[in-house]
Amino acid sequence: MIEFKNVSKRYSGNQAIDDLNLTIPTGDFFVLVGPSGSGKTTTLKMLNRLIAPTDGNIYFNDKRLIDYDLTQLRLQMGYVLQNIALFPNLTIQDNIAIQAESLGWSRKRRIERARTLLQQVDLDPDKYATRMPSELSGGEQQRVGIIRALAIKPKVVLMDEPFSALDPISRKQLQDLVLRLHHELDMTFVFVTHDMHEALRLGQHIAVMRLGHIQQVGTSAEIMQHPANDFVRGFFENEHASRMVTVQTLLDAGYGTPVTTPATLSATAPVRELAAALQTTSAVVVATPTGSQSLTTPDLLDYLATKEAD
Ligand code: ADP
Ligand code: MG
Repeated sequence: MIEFKNVSKRYSGNQAIDDLNLTIPTGDFFVLVGPSGSGKTTTLKMLNRLIAPTDGNIYFNDKRLIDYDLTQLRLQMGYVLQNIALFPNLTIQDNIAIQAESLGWSRKRRIERARTLLQQVDLDPDKYATRMPSELSGGEQQRVGIIRALAIKPKVVLMDEPFSALDPISRKQLQDLVLRLHHELDMTFVFVTHDMHEALRLGQHIAVMRLGHIQQVGTSAEIMQHPANDFVRGFFENEHASRMVTVQTLLDAGYGTPVTTPATLSATAPVRELAAALQTTSAVVVATPTGSQSLTTPDLLDYLATKEAD
């Protein structure tokens, strides 16, 4: 378990984090979401002691973070950066095993681990292990960035906007990938994003941040159905307002399940009306020329994940 207790961080006069209290359960997929400047990166960096709090304490498994040996702490916290930052002069397998090497793992063990991880993210080791980073696409490089953080089996994986530089299709694929990895591995994921849809799609628990303050902590359903204040409501809805697409676009993309129950929404309605309706119910029935179709919140979030966020 990770606990922030009355944590503040001031940068020369600028209050980046103000009295943060937060609990992250062991094994959770926890997402911090908020606009730029809300203090997400600062919070993440305090977790592996790249930044020290000005006030308050952070606890990791009931022990204060500052009481850990720094090297030991970092070994338990994998870090995935926004810009992939693979070492350009090292092969993919050497990039993945870089921390294992500093721990003194044998070359044989390092290569085995790298190959296992490549396999796990659907990158054929025979093809990719000895390539150089420049020979991979952006999405493939970010896959490697993720498995590099997993290589020495940390207890916690910290991810700071890992997909924001990717195109929507790659982004959705990598979202699916981290969901699968989280399911397969026994690790706590702490994931930072400015994209509310990404947060709702990935997070078991989500903390919405603004200007160094937590606005709300909850599950996707709690945040969508009971936004704590106008900021949280607006943060979700504004993202729909800019999308002038209709519900029909979702149906055309293959979402929806045929049903015989009466429809409450037309397929020509804008997507934001579907989003609004889904705030009070788990499925909305839409009338189409060929019959009624039921659409759910996961349908909406999966669809939106493939669209440009801004
Ligand atoms: P986010 O990741 O949500 O965009 P950050 O944690 O990077 O937010 O920043 C929070 C606030 O702290 C912002 O106002 C930012 O300008 C400020 N800040 C971040 N890093 C520094 C720094 N090294 N020096 C001074 N101010 C900083
Ligand atoms: Mg940031």
